[in-house]
Amino acid sequence: MYSIVTTAIVYGLESRCIRVEADVSNGLPVFEMVGFLSSEVKEAKERVRTALHNCGYTLPAKRITINLFPANVKKSGTGFDLPIAVAILAALGEIEKNALEETLIAGEISLSGQVQPVQGVLPIVAMAKEQGIKRCILPYVNLTEAKLIDGVTIWGVKNLLELTAYLKGKTYIEKEPIYIEETEQNSKKEDFSDINGQETVKRACEVAVAGRHNFLMIGPPGSGKTMIAQRIPGILPPMTKEEQLEISKIYSICGMLPQTGTLLQKRPFRSPHHTISINGLAGGGMIPKPGEISLAHKGVLFLDELPEYKKSTLEVMRQPMEDREIVLVRQAGAYRYPADFMLVAAMNPCNCGYYPDRNKCNCREADIRRYLGRISKPLLDRIDICIESPLICYDDLTKRKEKNEPSAQIRERVMAAVSRQQERFRGTGILYNSEIPSKDMETYCHLGEKQKKYMKEMYQKLELSVRGYYKILKVARTIADLDGTEEIEIRHLNEAVCYRILDKKYWE
Ligand SMILES: [Zn+2]
Repeated sequence: MYSIVTTAIVYGLESRCIRVEADVSNGLPVFEMVGFLSSEVKEAKERVRTALHNCGYTLPAKRITINLFPANVKKSGTGFDLPIAVAILAALGEIEKNALEETLIAGEISLSGQVQPVQGVLPIVAMAKEQGIKRCILPYVNLTEAKLIDGVTIWGVKNLLELTAYLKGKTYIEKEPIYIEETEQNSKKEDFSDINGQETVKRACEVAVAGRHNFLMIGPPGSGKTMIAQRIPGILPPMTKEEQLEISKIYSICGMLPQTGTLLQKRPFRSPHHTISINGLAGGGMIPKPGEISLAHKGVLFLDELPEYKKSTLEVMRQPMEDREIVLVRQAGAYRYPADFMLVAAMNPCNCGYYPDRNKCNCREADIRRYLGRISKPLLDRIDICIESPLICYDDLTKRKEKNEPSAQIRERVMAAVSRQQERFRGTGILYNSEIPSKDMETYCHLGEKQKKYMKEMYQKLELSVRGYYKILKVARTIADLDGTEEIEIRHLNEAVCYRILDKKYWE
């Protein structure tokens, strides 16, 4: 007797259909599983056998063969337990085969037959819909997530016996998904109006967000760098539906999608500690899981105390920052995860934190060089805006909070600048000014005669590199967009130049 069940595997950000074949025939009693299986899939044999037994099904003393195909895809994860159990029951004639048509089944089972949740349900159901599969049978706990995709019937099951009853003809009763409200702590409001003073840093931050430029703050401890970074989520533009689905898939694969009953609404803000490993940042494992750079996709990756990160850890970000995705090559294949993030970094200028204030800083010149040298030139090259955050002065400290501009107001300007960019780049695949390729500089960052003369002076005076020169133009483009003008004016260029001179001051 033979049967076939459809299930799925998550591969990178996408999901692929996998078929489970079961064959029960006369011969020596063995239970065999084949089809390029990882160790946890091989272990399914014992779980399924015991679970079936505990649910009252005794396997006959026959030859049972399970095959998972296509054979060229490495099967990993624990979601195959349930489809394997169902395939065996169908091959034994316990379940009618036509009950399994146009149906996808995924889930882990415990020894007692309870169905356990699996990761990556969102990409699995999205794929099922694309493939025209009518019904997905999934663990009850995953129901909230599965229901985010409409147009597919979802059955949430709690145990194997319940499922076999349904497949034998019992009517499925719609279950209420589990919803967990966002906690108070997650939705706490941090506002730019909390920050007194630091007007230039706040302004630079606004420009960075508006054009999605990578952003670095240098200053002594206690100057509010972290506070400013933490308030960036409050001024980010909203996500489109496609962006929400894409980022929700990443969180689904990591088992981190909050069960709120909606796709992720807010752009991610990730701030991994400086002890993070390369795998933690870039993604890793035998079957790689997304790392922090992918969890920050379409949002912000904040690295506080930048020189404290291992140099090798920081270096892995270089390629993804260019390609906006990371490719993790393993024996089982190449896994792609998107990694299109805005880098925000903060650092002290030296070990004590007070350089170049020589009244406070006693660090030796060589130590300062070494400290700053932990940030490599190629990484610095990928940062468009660099700003000093000085210690706050007394007058600013005692300023009334009501006088500070709230995040909502800043966000309005950011959104206006973002929509100017959308208008400009329609159909080009470019989203933000920071992404303008060198060949299109003349088209998008055209300069008038006066402006060209000014930039020529700056080019010579500051001994700019070509890359540095282009960066000034891109940032000036964003400043002009915030200003609401198409023409890039001298004051825009001037402000952009100010964001470039700091790396010269500290690193050259
Ligand atoms: Zn120092």
